[in-house]
Amino acid sequence: MKLHMQILIALGLGIKRNGHIFLGLILGIFAGIVLHQYKVLPNGDLNSSVAVIINTLDVIGKMFIRLIQMVVIPLVCSAIIIGIASVGDSKQLGKMGKKMVLYYGFITVAAVTIGALLSVFFKPGVNVQTYINHASAAVAQEQVREAIIAQQNNISHLFLNMIPQNPLESIANGDMIPILVFVLIFAIALSKVGDVSRPIIGFFESVFAATMKVTDWIMILAAPGVFALTATAISSFGTGVFTGISTYIIILAVGMLIQLCLVYPLVLKLFSKVPAAVFFSAISEPLMVAFGTASSSATLPLTIACCEKRGISHKVCSFVLPLGATLNMDATALFQTVAVIFLTQAYGITLEPIQIVMVAIFAIVASSTSAGIPGAGLITLAIILNVLGLTSQQLWEGLAFLFAIDRIIDMFRSMLNVTSDAVVAAVIADNENELDYDMLNNTDDYKDILE
Ligand code: ASP
Repeated sequence: MKLHMQILIALGLGIKRNGHIFLGLILGIFAGIVLHQYKVLPNGDLNSSVAVIINTLDVIGKMFIRLIQMVVIPLVCSAIIIGIASVGDSKQLGKMGKKMVLYYGFITVAAVTIGALLSVFFKPGVNVQTYINHASAAVAQEQVREAIIAQQNNISHLFLNMIPQNPLESIANGDMIPILVFVLIFAIALSKVGDVSRPIIGFFESVFAATMKVTDWIMILAAPGVFALTATAISSFGTGVFTGISTYIIILAVGMLIQLCLVYPLVLKLFSKVPAAVFFSAISEPLMVAFGTASSSATLPLTIACCEKRGISHKVCSFVLPLGATLNMDATALFQTVAVIFLTQAYGITLEPIQIVMVAIFAIVASSTSAGIPGAGLITLAIILNVLGLTSQQLWEGLAFLFAIDRIIDMFRSMLNVTSDAVVAAVIADNENELDYDMLNNTDDYKDILE
C-alpha cells in the first residue's frame, strides 16, 4: 500500500481508538454549523437563546484549555530538569541538542519551501483586493491593531526578551521562551554539581509525576472539551467568509497535507527505523486534542504522556517535546509564508525571488517566537508584514481579513505542530536507542496496514 494511504488509514485507526474525542470533534462541527445558522434571527436581531448556548460552550471549552494550561509550566520545568539530569553526560546532551536543531530545522525549511512554492505558483491573492475591505470587521481590526502595536514594540527586543531578568516574573506571565532559557541553564548547572542536586531533582520528579496524573484526569474531559471548543469556533464562521479566500484555504490545506503525508514520513524514513504508519496511529490522541484546543502548549502534557506510553524514553520526551512545543512551529511557518505572499498579491505588490526567500526566513523566526497558544501565529505574522513595508492600514485590513477564518486554520496548524514535535522525538529516540519498539508496536489494530 502507498505510504500516504497508510498514513491516512493509520490516522483513521488511531482516531477510532480514541472514538470519544473524535465524536466530540464531529458533533462539535455539526453543533457549530447549526448554532451559526440560528445565531441571527430573520429580523437581524441576535437570537438570545443561541447566544446563551454559545457562551456556555465557550466557558466549558475555556475551562478545558485552562485546566491543561494549568499544568504546562510545572510540567515543562520538571520535565526539562529531570530530562537533562537523566541524560547526565553533557556529550550526549549536546548530541541530542544538535540532532534536534537539525530535524526541527529540516522540517521547518521544508514547510516554508512548500508554502512559498505553492503560493507563488497558484497565486491565491490575485483578484481578492475587493473582498479585503469588505471582510475586515471593525472588531477584528481593533484586536489586530492592538496586537500589532504590541508586536512592533517587541521586534527590537525579540532576542533580548529571550533572557529572563526575573525567571519568576516570566513564570507568572507564562512567557515560555524565557522560562525555557532559564530552566535549560539551571538544569545543565544541576547536572554539573554532583550529589547536592539530588534533593531538587527528586522534588521535580515528584512534580512531574503529579502533573502527569493531573493530565490523565483532565483527559477524562477531552471529549466534552473538544466538543465545546470546536462548536464555538465553528459557530463564528459564516460560509460567506470563504468567498475570495478559497484558493488560499486550499493552498494551505494542500501544503499541510504534503507536510503530513510526505515530509514527516520522509524524516522518519531517512533518519530512523520508525514505521510512519504505526507512529501516526499511535499519536492520534494528542493530535485530536491539539486540533480541538488549537494550542500545542496546552497539548504538551498529553503529547508527553502519549509518547512515553508508546515507548519513547522519558529522557528524550522530557527534553525534546517541551522545546519542540515552544520553538518548533513548522505548520505556523508554512501558514505565515502562504499568508504573507497571499496578502502581498492581494495588494498588488510583486515580490522579487530574494524577497520571497526573506519572507520564508522571517517566517521561520516569527513562527518560533510564536507561543503555542491559539492565534499566536497570526499575531507574529505582523513581524514579517512589517518587514515588507506594508502600510499600517494595509496591515490591519489584511490581518483582519485572515483573522476571520484563522481559528479553523489554527486548529490544523496546531495539530501539525504537535505531530512534528512527536516525529522528532521518535527519531531522536530511535537514534539514541531510547525507543522501545515493543511498546510502539504493541497495538494489534494497525498491524494489517503495514503489509
Ligand atoms: N496555535 C498554534 C500552536 O499552538 C500556534 C499558531 O498560532 O500557529 O501550535
